[in-house]
Amino acid sequence: MLDLSQLFFDFTAQPVWTPFQSVRELEAVEPPEMTETALQDGRDETLEAQAREWLHALEMPGGAKLLTVSWNARLRSTAGYARYPKWAVELNPLLRDFEGQVERTLKHELAHLIAYHRSGRRRIEPHGREWRQACADLGIAGEKAHHRLPLPRNEVVRKLVYACPACQTTVQRVRKFRRPTACLHCCNKHASGQYDGRFKLALLAS
Ligand SMILES: [Zn+2]
Ligand SMILES: [Zn+2]
Repeated sequence: MLDLSQLFFDFTAQPVWTPFQSVRELEAVEPPEMTETALQDGRDETLEAQAREWLHALEMPGGAKLLTVSWNARLRSTAGYARYPKWAVELNPLLRDFEGQVERTLKHELAHLIAYHRSGRRRIEPHGREWRQACADLGIAGEKAHHRLPLPRNEVVRKLVYACPACQTTVQRVRKFRRPTACLHCCNKHASGQYDGRFKLALLAS
């Protein structure tokens, strides 16, 4: 049997051995200093500038001024999210894996804000007539209320298995980690919750 702790792990303290266990993929620590962190979450000024242009073209300078567009990796199976009257749009970073879907989802969410703004205090259906009109104004006439993207859902079968070289905890993933990712349990225990390369998860099987 392959001894992962010797292959990957040189650690003076007593390694903690626990039976194989599964943790959710969120229970992993990624190094904060790497540039991809910025891409993963947070505001996107390019998309904001683009969306502001569309709002100016529709004569909504007030909304254009307030608007923020951010990536939110916690959306999981949700493509996007719009908050009104905050004029905030959140997008799922996984959309970038699908051709044209970032712009389409941005317009879908923006259409919600435009529809609410135009309706004032009048209550409207989220995907009703006003929203469809706003979609048409943004160039996505016929947009559907619900996205059909193969975004991960909680019940999806995960195909990749990573293991912590220290504690043997396994983490299941749909797609490969783009960056080195370490075991949350061990980083919490031995590295104050910070990313520590000694606990870098290793791909076991696909
Ligand atoms: Zn919607
Ligand atoms: Zn571990």
